[in-house]
Amino acid sequence: MKTLRLRAGKEKSLLRRHPWIFDSAVAKGGADPGETVRVESAEGRFLAWAAFSPTSKIRARAWSFDEAERIDAAFLNRRVAAAILARSRFDIASDSCRLIHGEADGLPGLVVDRYGQTLVAQFLSCGVERFKPVLLEALLAHTGLKALFERSDANSRELEGLPIVTGWLSEAPEAGQGTQLVLQEHQWQLGLDIERGHKTGFYLDQRDSRWRFAQYAQRLQFKRVLNCFCYTGGFTVAALSGLSAAAAPHITSIDSSALALERARANVALNGFDAAAHTFLDADVNAILRLFLEQGKTFDAIVLDPPKFAPTAAHAERAARAYKDINRLALKLLTPGGVLFTFSCSGGISVDLFHKIVASAGLDAGVDGFILERLGAAPDHPMTIEFPEGEYLKGLVVMRR
Ligand code: SAH
Repeated sequence: MKTLRLRAGKEKSLLRRHPWIFDSAVAKGGADPGETVRVESAEGRFLAWAAFSPTSKIRARAWSFDEAERIDAAFLNRRVAAAILARSRFDIASDSCRLIHGEADGLPGLVVDRYGQTLVAQFLSCGVERFKPVLLEALLAHTGLKALFERSDANSRELEGLPIVTGWLSEAPEAGQGTQLVLQEHQWQLGLDIERGHKTGFYLDQRDSRWRFAQYAQRLQFKRVLNCFCYTGGFTVAALSGLSAAAAPHITSIDSSALALERARANVALNGFDAAAHTFLDADVNAILRLFLEQGKTFDAIVLDPPKFAPTAAHAERAARAYKDINRLALKLLTPGGVLFTFSCSGGISVDLFHKIVASAGLDAGVDGFILERLGAAPDHPMTIEFPEGEYLKGLVVMRR
């Protein structure tokens, strides 16, 4: 068994069961990509079993802090089974959910989403890459499903020195079960493309926030709604499901991806909503918000769900300015009593910092508001006590005074 010896004092985070070992913490030792290493303190004390990654700044990711454990097929099967069991206890109003959420499920670098009868997986670290055949078998066995599509095309693969891989990892699925799927979430249906869509095809993490938005729409019966960064129209469909068609509400949805907008349009139709009730704009949100301000437009509800502006804390400052800017514009466009659902999915922006950004956007806009709720990722994207980085998605519901 190969060993990774840490520098003096660098064992502290592992003793707190944080799973990452940075290159700067390593004194000596190495292994092949994904090979299991025994991680020791400078004094030679056992700390963890970890998967080695020769090129990543995260040089190793801990599998286990128990010296008696063996990292083998049985171990991985136990972890997969535990993650799936946990989902059966979570409150998930959908036929689709995240089954494995990487570090939070003790499987660093593995993301697996279930869409109905199909699994979509991302292998994002050398450790899970090395054990891919075992994990495939475990995932199919513990779900009883047959189809698993691989979407290992995230940027983080590069940091791990891994090539981009996409395609069916299981045998090709039965006829009629391709890469164009429809999921059932709450009381609506949403089509997705697991081959060409973002990430694994859909943003499952916003499930509960979409539901909250539908509830606000139902209670407050917004007349004009603006859904910024709409992707495949999840928040648009949610709003429409809560609004009474008799009041002729109108929803404007914006995204810069033509493919996403095409799907969003189809999703509105799929749920039987009137085409006259919505407009889709292929545009840059920032530019459109400015244009709407110039035109004197206002909205009763606005969703701001931008992409990750700050992947890590190092990008936080520039990202903070970008978040503040769109929030300032959105708050100005809101009618009194109007509601803003605003989000950040940046791991580099903490909950507190996000709150401060929105507060300072309000100050600059000259707009005060009630912070009605704090939102987060749906429970199948858990954060754990040992891995605070897991808290990446945060949101606020603000009602303009
Ligand atoms: N709210 C969505 C997820 C949003 S993901 C849901 O519930 O499913 C972020 C989206 O922002 C992506 O679809 C991406 O295409 C879009 N996007 C990124 N930069 C943009 C920009 N400058 N203007 C408009 N859309 C943008």
